[in-house]
Amino acid sequence: ATPTSIMVGTGRAAESGILFKGGEHLERTHEINAIVLDKTGTITKGKPEVTDFSGDAETLQLLASAEKGSEHPLAEAIVAYAAEKNIHFLEVDHFAAIPGHGIEAEISGQQILVGNRKLMNDHQIDIESATEEKLIEFETGGKTAMLIAIEGEYRGIIAVADTIKDTAPEAIKQLKEMGIEVIMLTGDNERTAQAIAKQAGIDQVIAQVLPEEKADKVKEIQQQGKKVAMVGDGVNDAPALVTADIGIAIGTGTEVAIEAADVTILGGELLLIPKAIKISKATIRNIR
Ligand code: ADP
Ligand code: MG
Repeated sequence: ATPTSIMVGTGRAAESGILFKGGEHLERTHEINAIVLDKTGTITKGKPEVTDFSGDAETLQLLASAEKGSEHPLAEAIVAYAAEKNIHFLEVDHFAAIPGHGIEAEISGQQILVGNRKLMNDHQIDIESATEEKLIEFETGGKTAMLIAIEGEYRGIIAVADTIKDTAPEAIKQLKEMGIEVIMLTGDNERTAQAIAKQAGIDQVIAQVLPEEKADKVKEIQQQGKKVAMVGDGVNDAPALVTADIGIAIGTGTEVAIEAADVTILGGELLLIPKAIKISKATIRNIR
């Protein structure tokens, strides 16, 4: 590898908005034959909005007050929805995030749980079959639905939708045409994940992955003999970004993800991923 061609390559990449942390990463990028993409904030815009809420005003007040303590994009959507409805936020006495499952909070002596089925099951909250049907309906439409329980009783459901980035299908298509395997990785449920994957043109989905399991999934794909690039934006994605052969951070994502990655794509533009691989290939061709 001549230092000059690598310098030219990293310079060309930088002009396009692909920031390699060092020439060695540009050199290795051409070997990639599998790409794992996080869902929220990577394939989707990461700006979810509440589309459906069923529950009473008190439930919304407690739910939104509890979510104020969470930094999750889902929480931001719920807080914005309640603020728009001029809900008065209550003081939260205790808050805990339960990674991959939801949140738990205490407000004026009442216990609030917001999250997925697993969270409700773990707390032995009874969910009626009508609620389960609603959940399935939301999820089939690509929405993330969260269940709410107050003092151990089911009180409502809230659904949030996030749209895929406009250029996601084209970026995925280009990657597939380059012979690269494309896989979506998410903590969200299987049905929502499948719906979003379909919109983006991805046929391999690994869903319901806990934050701490993301890196293990990358390792498993590497053990199948693949050279894996991981693309992510969240704090949760950092260990997987480090584990992957090439970690690609979304420029609009968290500082933690950018720190952990080998490359950052500005503006979170997914078309820059096939472009990075092309630049790497061209650089290697010049070298050989
Ligand atoms: P993602 O891969 O989409 O970032 P996470 O692992 O962060 O997913 O979350 C997985 C699931 O846990 C969510 O789909 C949701 O059901 C639940 N969850 C996470 N955070 C919250 C929250 N603040 N409020 C309610 N539910 C949550
Ligand atoms: Mg994400």
